[in-house]
Amino acid sequence: MILNNIEEDLDKLRDKIGEALEDACQWRRAAGFKQEFSTSETWKLIRAVHEKRDWSKCIWFSQATPKYAFMMWLACLNRLSTMDRIARWNRGVDTTCVLCKNALENRDHLFFECSYSLQLWESLAKGIMGSSFTNSWPEIVSIATAGAMERRKRFCFRYAFHAAMYSLWRERNRVKHGERLTPVTLLKKLVDKGIRNKLSLLRQKGVKGMQDSIQLWFSTRG
Ligand SMILES: [Zn+2]
Repeated sequence: MILNNIEEDLDKLRDKIGEALEDACQWRRAAGFKQEFSTSETWKLIRAVHEKRDWSKCIWFSQATPKYAFMMWLACLNRLSTMDRIARWNRGVDTTCVLCKNALENRDHLFFECSYSLQLWESLAKGIMGSSFTNSWPEIVSIATAGAMERRKRFCFRYAFHAAMYSLWRERNRVKHGERLTPVTLLKKLVDKGIRNKLSLLRQKGVKGMQDSIQLWFSTRG
């Protein structure tokens, strides 16, 4: 008897609520929930989005210096222990760039937005890049990856990019460990000398197509 009453009451309630509130499937979309299912919208939501890794050509190329290439690989993954990343798990740490002491240290700042870094990068790359010169990390990586340059020029550009990144990261670490900042004029000379040594070694070894790359390098020096 009681159960029958309950049934009746439930029926009455159901009528009151009406059909509008019947259960229905809802599919999640980027813009909210919808009744229609969309394969592409759902795919976008469930897939893990990875950064495109098409920059390997600007890291691993013939005649690259392995220790430079390794650091470049870490830099492209944004895995160098720059202060912006350290601050994520070590709050209160000083995140100021030690090269210019004037900005937050992160990868794109160090390479080569920083006023100190920019001077080095300009001295190395302006002659090769000409009007397409840029100090923006993503732009440099995309130019170095595309490699739409004559072979020797492409090598000089990629190698200068590696050498600049490596020497700035080393300089940054030296200063972090209490050493005095190397005057940028001296760093320019040291890095340029390193590149010349590499290019003359390629000539000595008779690497195909690279014999006169050192002349090309000289011709880009202002
Ligand atoms: Zn700086």
